[in-house]
Amino acid sequence: MAMTKEQRAAKLRELEQKIASKKGIGALYGLAKGMSVTMRTMLKPAITTQYPHVKPDLPERTRGVIALKEENCTVCMLCSRECPDWCIYIDSHKDVMPPKTPGARGRTRNVLDRFAIDYALCMYCGICVDVCPFDALFWSPHFEYSTDDLSTLTHEMDTLAKWMDYVPPPPALEDGAEDPVEVSKEAVSYGAPAVAAPVATATAPAATATAAPPRTEPAPSQEGAAADSATPAGGTTEAAETQAPPAREERHDEEPPQIDQEAYDAAIAQGKPDREARALAKRAWILKRRKAQS
Ligand code: SF4
Ligand code: SF4
Repeated sequence: MAMTKEQRAAKLRELEQKIASKKGIGALYGLAKGMSVTMRTMLKPAITTQYPHVKPDLPERTRGVIALKEENCTVCMLCSRECPDWCIYIDSHKDVMPPKTPGARGRTRNVLDRFAIDYALCMYCGICVDVCPFDALFWSPHFEYSTDDLSTLTHEMDTLAKWMDYVPPPPALEDGAEDPVEVSKEAVSYGAPAVAAPVATATAPAATATAAPPRTEPAPSQEGAAADSATPAGGTTEAAETQAPPAREERHDEEPPQIDQEAYDAAIAQGKPDREARALAKRAWILKRRKAQS
């Protein structure tokens, strides 16, 4: 009767033990076995990647570093509180915004002054990305930020925002799935091409008219973020203060991201789903704006 794999391995182990127990022969057997392993390894081709001369071919969603989408952050502090290493530093102040209806009280909103992550402490657990309720933190596949000085591993929000450029667009939805409601709303309020949100514009024309201005918290720019780092980290100001610093006023007037028609058409021509095409088009628009501003 043929022996199973386990039986053969057990028999071999038994034989090895017998040989090893014999003086002299045991040592020789051990030496021969070790050399056979060495020879086998020597004959295998090397799989070393010659980094940095050759870039590794990493998966698209590699967890390289955490990036910040600054305009989405509401300073809720959840990420900072949940971080097991306490390596997220956030400073903010409150701005008083004009009331929505005449005669009402002014609305206060948190404005991010500083968002920094100390990557010397971070253990890349991803809890901050998971707990952020406003999709402000993302895993970015960028990984080339090593340094020989630990004190330079605290990265501020202008750097974290730049790393957003590496974040791939969201994966395509399954066939037949409807766009999430946020995407339809975004398409309407950002003035997406007519083909981008046919349902939203066709079925709710009245909503379209009122949805255009509702984005009351426009996206700040990278330059604004860079300017922030020069301002002192503020605590919470009194609600009675009605004047925001001039730099902050500029940030509120910043135009929200638009859909780049050219990039959108190119993505659609490549057969990308509408949702992914819009994400790519918006990214292209942001990159163009940054280029124009630099
Ligand atoms: S990945 Fe983990 S350790 Fe790093 S900042 Fe986020 S929560 Fe903190
Ligand atoms: S990144 Fe997300 S969880 Fe952290 S403060 Fe901003 S909105 Fe809150």
